[in-house]
Amino acid sequence: MNYKIAVIPGDGIGPEVIGEALKVLDAVGEKYGHTFEYTKVLAGGCAIDEKGECLPQETVDVCRSSDAVLLGAVGGWKWDTLPGDKRPERALLGLRKELGLFANLRPALLFEELAEACPLKPEIVEGGLDIVVVRELTGGIYFGEKGTVDTDLGPAAYDVEQYAEEEVRRIAKVAFDMAMKRNKKLTSVDKANVLESSRLWRRIVAEVAEDYPEVEVNNFYVDNAAMQLVRNPKQFDVIVTSNIFGDILSDEASMITGSIGMLPSASLANGNFGMYEPVHGSAPDIAGQDIANPMATILSAAMMLRYTFGLGDEADCIENAVKKVLADGYRTADIAKDGEAVTGTAEIGRLIKEAI
Ligand code: NAD
Repeated sequence: MNYKIAVIPGDGIGPEVIGEALKVLDAVGEKYGHTFEYTKVLAGGCAIDEKGECLPQETVDVCRSSDAVLLGAVGGWKWDTLPGDKRPERALLGLRKELGLFANLRPALLFEELAEACPLKPEIVEGGLDIVVVRELTGGIYFGEKGTVDTDLGPAAYDVEQYAEEEVRRIAKVAFDMAMKRNKKLTSVDKANVLESSRLWRRIVAEVAEDYPEVEVNNFYVDNAAMQLVRNPKQFDVIVTSNIFGDILSDEASMITGSIGMLPSASLANGNFGMYEPVHGSAPDIAGQDIANPMATILSAAMMLRYTFGLGDEADCIENAVKKVLADGYRTADIAKDGEAVTGTAEIGRLIKEAI
C-alpha cells in the first residue's frame, strides 16, 4: 500500500528526531512492502521566518490531503518575545482546529529496561506500567467563553467550562473502543461532586457504556485520580477525561514513566485521520547537538501505523525494535544513568532501523 504522510519537522530538535523516525518508517515499509510518501511542510517558528505566519494555509492543505500528519515540535527562544497569538505554538492549536483533532491519546508506558527512571518506589510499578490517557482536545474551559468583569472585589477574569453532550459522546466512544482493544477497563475522570459540566460528562459516559457491556467502567473525581496515579497507578488502564483534567493527568502519568524523550502521542479526528507527535517540545537547549532522544517520535510513528493505517504488526515491529535497542543497553543522555555510556540521536535511529 501507498500512504501519504504530511511531515512537519518544526523547530529545535524537531527536524533531528523526525529525520530518524522517517528512516525507521522506510525500513518498516521495505520489510512489509509499503511505500510511505512524505510531503514536508512548515509550521511553527521556521514558518514565521519563511512565510510570516506560524501555520501557512499550504501546510493545512497538505495535511488535509494526506492520510496522517507526523510532527516534530515547534517553538524556541528566538520567538519567545512575540505576542501570544503570533507565537509558533499557536500552530498546534490551529492544526487541532483545522484538522478536527478532538481526541488526544497519550500512552504512559514504563519500559522495563528504564524502570530506574521511574520516580515511584519499585514495588509500586513492579511488572511495568501501561496506561493510556484519552483527553478531549477541542472543548471545555480552554475554548469556552472568557473575559473580564468588574466586581465588588475589583477586576475579575473568567473562563467557562462547557461541554455539549455530543462532544462527550464522541470522546467517550474513542475511549471505549480503545478499552475494547486493550484490557476492557475504563476510568472516567471528572469532578461531578462540584461541576455541572462534569455531571453531564458522567451521564453521557454511562449512556455510551451501555453499548460496551464488556467494558468495566469506574468513575473517579479528578483529585482522587491524581492521588491514585502515584499511589497505585497499576489500577488504571484507559483513562478518559476532559481537556483541562487530561492536560494535567497526562503530564502526571508521563512523569511516572521517567523520560519525556520516550513518550509518543496521537491526536485523532473522526474516521482514521490523526496527527502524531512526541510529547516533548523543541528542546532548544539541546538542538543541533545530536543528543536528543528520537524514540518518542519513532514511537509516535508506530502509533500512526497502528491507529491511522491499521498496521498493527508493523507498529509492533517498531516498538519491539525500540525495546531491543534499550535491552542491548543503548541510551541517549536523557535516559542514561550517571556514568553510563551515551549514544547520539542518529546512532540510536540507525540501531532501531537495524533492529527492524
Ligand atoms: P521541552 O519538552 O522542549 O524540554 C524540556 C526539557 O526536556 C529540556 O531540558 C529538554 O532538553 C528535555 N528534552 C525534551 N525533549 C527531549 C528529547 N527528545 N531528548 C532529550 N531531552 C529532551 O519543553 P520546554 O523547554 O518547556 O519548551 C521548549 C519549547 O518547546 C518552547 O518553545 C515550548 O513552547 C515548545 N513546546 C512545543 C511543544 C510541541 O511542539 N508539541 C510541546 C511543548 C513545548
